[in-house]
Amino acid sequence: MHNDREISLPTRQAEVVIVGAGLAGLSAARALTKIGVDGIVLEARDRVGGRTYSRPASDGTILDLGGQWIGPTQDRLAALAAEVGATTFPTYNEGKNIEFYKGERLVYEGAIPMGDPAATMETIEALLELNLMAQEVPLDTPWTASRAAEWDSQTVETWMRAHIENEHARHLLTLGVESVFSVEPRDLSLLHFLFYTHSGGNLNQLLSVADGAQERRFHQGAQYISERLAAELGERVVLQAPVHTIYQDEQGVHVASDALLASARRAIIAIPPTLAGRLRYRPALPAYRDQLTQRVPMGTVIKVQCLYTQPFWRDEGYSGQVTCDEGAVRITFDNSPANGTSGVLMGFIEGDEGRAWGRRTREERETEVIACFVRYFGEQAAHPIEYAEQNWAEEEYSRGCYAGFMAPGVWSSYGEALSQPIGRLHWAGTETAVLWNGYMDGAIQSGERAAEEVLQALSSSRTRR
Ligand SMILES: Cc1cc2nc3c(=O)[nH]c(=O)nc-3n(C[C@H](O)[C@H](O)[C@H](O)COP(=O)(O)OP(=O)(O)OC[C@H]3O[C@@H](n4cnc5c(N)ncnc54)[C@H](O)[C@@H]3O)c2cc1C
Repeated sequence: MHNDREISLPTRQAEVVIVGAGLAGLSAARALTKIGVDGIVLEARDRVGGRTYSRPASDGTILDLGGQWIGPTQDRLAALAAEVGATTFPTYNEGKNIEFYKGERLVYEGAIPMGDPAATMETIEALLELNLMAQEVPLDTPWTASRAAEWDSQTVETWMRAHIENEHARHLLTLGVESVFSVEPRDLSLLHFLFYTHSGGNLNQLLSVADGAQERRFHQGAQYISERLAAELGERVVLQAPVHTIYQDEQGVHVASDALLASARRAIIAIPPTLAGRLRYRPALPAYRDQLTQRVPMGTVIKVQCLYTQPFWRDEGYSGQVTCDEGAVRITFDNSPANGTSGVLMGFIEGDEGRAWGRRTREERETEVIACFVRYFGEQAAHPIEYAEQNWAEEEYSRGCYAGFMAPGVWSSYGEALSQPIGRLHWAGTETAVLWNGYMDGAIQSGERAAEEVLQALSSSRTRR
């Protein structure tokens, strides 16, 4: 059944094999291990944590290069963090924000720039309307929303053009889409946008620092949670074991990686759908599932950070938060450590900018990022101690971020294939989450849900014997 290369590999036996040691895979393994079900986790990288990745800068400041924030209602993440001893502090959110728009610089406080009353009014109206529409989308079956056909036949761009007259308001919503999805409004199904909004509560929650998804950060860096989970799981987690082929037969499931061949009764595939589609399955998966995986692309984001000796912008009363309508970095945050011993400015290069700047050299990006920060915060930003970046689309085992998204038609035609088990295979990963889809909290939820599915399958097959 296996090829020659696999016959010479070491083998491991477990009840469940899990592909991917991100928060989803590790949460699944933990849930199973807790009740005595033996699992093994195969991870492609030489580290755990997947789309969370924290590393110390030259002065010891922890830089989160991937997921970092936790906010209200992300209860699974909060509970897990508390269990493993990860502690949080508020995102710096004091003082004045800055907006650059059509060459003008506007200083403002609060969530939305108030300089242009017509734009503010239309932005608020659009947010309210979208929030109401989002509440109509059933979270476990978005394609059954009463207006699913209408919403899944258009992009967010189409909707904005039809419903928002004010160009400035359209620009603000575009920035909102870029910052939440790291894609352009033209890429995204309106139905997916509404599902995702409902999944995280509402747009206010998705977009805000205070009382929102950007409210708090982890002292230890977000990857610490996965590192603690992996430490608990010990030898059950195997690094540098990229999985390439999954066989299913009467006896069980056999998962072939570059490092070992793991056999089990069930498998949980806890990687983004597009990466799951690149694995080889024997027998081949049904067309319905394969065609889904052909249609869930990842967003494009390069997360950039500059380290300074101190958060100098705070002295002048600035929060560190900027929005802009040009340049590579159009959104920034103060990402300094809790005690403010050093200053970190963080920015995202997203969507079209991410696609364009991802093709340039690291040096070119560094020059551009520093130029953006100097424009926003003055000459003091010109000489960081360190520049750090993570280009997530270049990562072989992510191929983009923050998450997979749906273009028009995908939910309607393929929605059920996202998490429906196939034979002995179960699907996890934040893309399959009902609550906080796309976020760390959703990843944990998806892992726990897949573990529950596996338990039910194992216990019903035991009963049948
Ligand atoms: C820049 C950035 C900022 C973000 N900001 C936030 C935030 O502030 N708050 C928030 O909640 N979320 C944020 N997110 C999203 C969050 O990080 C993810 O939703 C979450 O970490 C996904 O977890 P996961 O386990 O589903 O997937 P992943 O973390 O992608 O885990 C999948 C794992 O599978 C491994 N893998 C892939 N292919 C294979 C293979 N063939 N064989 C074996 N292993 C394989 C990968 O290496 C990876 O470790 C952000 C993400 C990024 C990149």
